[in-house]
Amino acid sequence: MSDLSPEQKHPVNIKVDIKKSEVRIEWADGYRSAYPLAYLRQICPCANCNQQRSNPDPLRVLTPEQMAISDKLTPERPVEMVGKYGLQFFWDDGHRSGIYSFEFLRDSTPS
Ligand SMILES: [Zn+2]
Repeated sequence: MSDLSPEQKHPVNIKVDIKKSEVRIEWADGYRSAYPLAYLRQICPCANCNQQRSNPDPLRVLTPEQMAISDKLTPERPVEMVGKYGLQFFWDDGHRSGIYSFEFLRDSTPS
């Protein structure tokens, strides 16, 4: 893992911008990250998504529902804090098992 300082993984402001389809985080060290929702869904850290990324089965036939990976959040409940640890996003296709730790988010800031 990385060796981030406490300030580098401590968010002071979190903004979920549904209109722009992005999440913006300002960190205690002054750094600002912006994450397109589609990008966040692609890097979903849950066990299922991790496995599919690391070991995609070329013979697997996906149903239409499985192919329809949503990059939209449920409007009424888009995101929740998980303690002081991270964020949980609620995608509108029902997927919600990924917990995005703040350390992971800071490390995954798109360049
Ligand atoms: Zn996932």
